[in-house]
Amino acid sequence: MVKFNSNYKNLKPSYLFSDIARRVSEHVASTGAKVIRMDIGDVTQPLSAPIVDALIAASQEMGKVSTFRGYGPEQGYAFLREAVAGYYAKMGVELAADEIFISDGAKSDIANITDLFDNENIIALPDPVYPVYFDSNLMLGRKINLIQGNRENNFLPMPSSIAAADIIYLCSPNNPTGAVYTREQLKEWVDFALENNAIIMFDAAYEAFVRDNIYPRSIFEIEGARKCAIEFCSLSKTAGFTGLRCGYTVVPHDLASGSQSLNKMWLRRQTTKFNGVPYVVQRAAQAVFSQEGLRATEDTLNKYLKNAHLISASLDEVGAWNTGGKHSPYIWFACPKGMASWEFFELLLNSAGVVGTPGSGFGKCGEGYLRITAFNSYENTLAAMKKIKEIAANL
Ligand code: PLP
Repeated sequence: MVKFNSNYKNLKPSYLFSDIARRVSEHVASTGAKVIRMDIGDVTQPLSAPIVDALIAASQEMGKVSTFRGYGPEQGYAFLREAVAGYYAKMGVELAADEIFISDGAKSDIANITDLFDNENIIALPDPVYPVYFDSNLMLGRKINLIQGNRENNFLPMPSSIAAADIIYLCSPNNPTGAVYTREQLKEWVDFALENNAIIMFDAAYEAFVRDNIYPRSIFEIEGARKCAIEFCSLSKTAGFTGLRCGYTVVPHDLASGSQSLNKMWLRRQTTKFNGVPYVVQRAAQAVFSQEGLRATEDTLNKYLKNAHLISASLDEVGAWNTGGKHSPYIWFACPKGMASWEFFELLLNSAGVVGTPGSGFGKCGEGYLRITAFNSYENTLAAMKKIKEIAANL
């Protein structure tokens, strides 16, 4: 008799975003008022011209016998892997092109990498957390230890707060909190992983927002990380690829146990279960790393960062404790007067027509916080912050 994976029974229904959507549409239906969505987790700026040009050129190649491409290499075309290696070289990180795996985005790789590890491993995850780390391990019935993020540690939990861990997930700049680890803090994590024969799954999906060299963009900027870390990165937020879909994962050759190499295992896994990213998308991704592509990308990221700076400066003005926003599109702040996340969400929606994301939706430690994002227009961000400041002043 067929047996289903009973671990799925342990997954909580993901109500967060549907709950927000329902409450917003009820509010709009009953008041007819306009709302400002400061909960947007998707990019809003279009693809830049160099990327669009590359998409068009590659599409035209696909329409000619002489340049048509069918199945591509599962690991990604060499032209893109080399472009990614060149991008890392600018950060002072030397990678071999065969340590880079092109994918359809970071989410799938983060979830699929679980294939390479035994179910006996103890998983350590920060709370609050990007839910994919949690759910993909829960689906396999793995034991998960939560590492508390809070105001005392600026939502940057450190190794001193965990007992045991074989696989540790870190995300910097962080979603949902926007907090960013410094070089010294990441070094502590790398040293911990090396001492404990653990692996760090480093999610660098927001690395392109980092504007200060005290914060590493890649874990491989830290000495020793090649022996204990896998890195996931994505062009989703960097270059507006949330719809186009492209990311990359770095699995160094140094990660080995006896005769087993994680790089070889991931290659085997991908060649068995994945058939690569479309040629046209890989050409578009290559264009992101060209000089013109990087310049255009920077312009777009600066637009989001301008919003982010406005948000954190406005919260500072009203004395609301907040983190993120300087090197990330996310700002995480303490709800005024000790309100619960959903309580403040409702107040903000009903009295100002502004929508945020309740922090409690990202884990127990998120209770009492709200996440707002920098993906709306500058005008809307300005209007939303004016309203939030008015509410805070009148509470
Ligand atoms: N990691 C984090 C922390 C994210 O916030 C996201 C997307 O929101 C992803 C990974 C997934 O990115 P992708 O669009 O490349 O799958």
